[in-house]
Amino acid sequence: MDLKRRDFLKMAAGSGALLAAGSHPALAAPRKELPPNAVGILYDATLCIGCQSCMVNCKTFNSVEGGALYPQKEGIPYEFPRPDQRFWDRPVDLSSNTLNVIKAFKTGTGVNKDSETDGYSFVKRHCMHCIDPACVSACPVSALKKHPDTGVVTYSKDACIGCRYCQIACPYNIPKFEWDEALPQIRKCQLCNHRYAEGKYAACCEFCPTGASIFGKVTDLQAEAKRRLSLKEGTYQAYPLQTVDSKHTIPTRVARYLDHVYGLAEGGGTQYLLMSGVPFSSLGLPDLPEEAAAAVSEGIQHTLYKGMIAPAVLLAGLVFSAYRSTKNGDE
Ligand code: SF4
Ligand code: SF4
Ligand code: SF4
Repeated sequence: MDLKRRDFLKMAAGSGALLAAGSHPALAAPRKELPPNAVGILYDATLCIGCQSCMVNCKTFNSVEGGALYPQKEGIPYEFPRPDQRFWDRPVDLSSNTLNVIKAFKTGTGVNKDSETDGYSFVKRHCMHCIDPACVSACPVSALKKHPDTGVVTYSKDACIGCRYCQIACPYNIPKFEWDEALPQIRKCQLCNHRYAEGKYAACCEFCPTGASIFGKVTDLQAEAKRRLSLKEGTYQAYPLQTVDSKHTIPTRVARYLDHVYGLAEGGGTQYLLMSGVPFSSLGLPDLPEEAAAAVSEGIQHTLYKGMIAPAVLLAGLVFSAYRSTKNGDE
């Protein structure tokens, strides 16, 4: 066959250009809609006191090590995976044992809450429950799924083959792998969906004493975030506790908000929304475009396969490999 190395490289370069073109937003798959009964969390860093009650109760109600010591009572469904390891811990980041972490930002003397000058702020990190999740898109065996009604992104250990593509795909670096287990799983927040059947909701919100973390329908959380942005700084206002529609409220002095709700647009939108007085980049949240990473990669895949570009490149590769072997044989 008269295929020269130069011809093959030219062909590969051409397909590289097509791949580059594929990253253009125009080739991204259409933006996905919020599921009809999407639930999520609104976290307001200006209300957070960094008590870490959300972290402890996340561990307790999700059976991961390091939760608070609760007595085992009849009818209480949670238990510790290792009874000999009931202790409090202070994790500094997410891990397979920590599905939710409170981090602190500090600048200068760190005395002014929610300020970038000599200030500090907390931030609560866990799965964002993306509207178009890259982890779901990347998983080759559908071990990660987005619920069509609630939008909660769940994980099935029975389906998982341990390839960890979800870890690479997630733009927020959320899924964690159990490196120290004989039969490892991926661990991440599943929005406490195992508690809904008993009329409960996210444990981190149920046990937040200030209303910094509240659970509810995403449309209601979005409206509550807008309401907060319209409040007059320095006045005392009623903030709901635990859930967005709660009758229990707590009067709190309105802080200076950044005019931005993180998660309304970032990465195609998320069901976990954040408000803050300091830039989200200072809190370690990535500055993402409005297109979901999953939409861009799906757009590229569809474009490549629609035009039979990927199979053609693969075939060219095989042909070149065969040509090289034959040539070596001749020599
Ligand atoms: S934050 Fe990461 S793990 Fe969570 S849904 Fe989005 S892509 Fe998946
Ligand atoms: S929703 Fe549940 S699993 Fe997710 S961070 Fe809150 S307590 Fe943890
Ligand atoms: S429980 Fe509420 S106030 Fe305490 S650290 Fe968590 S989010 Fe902040």
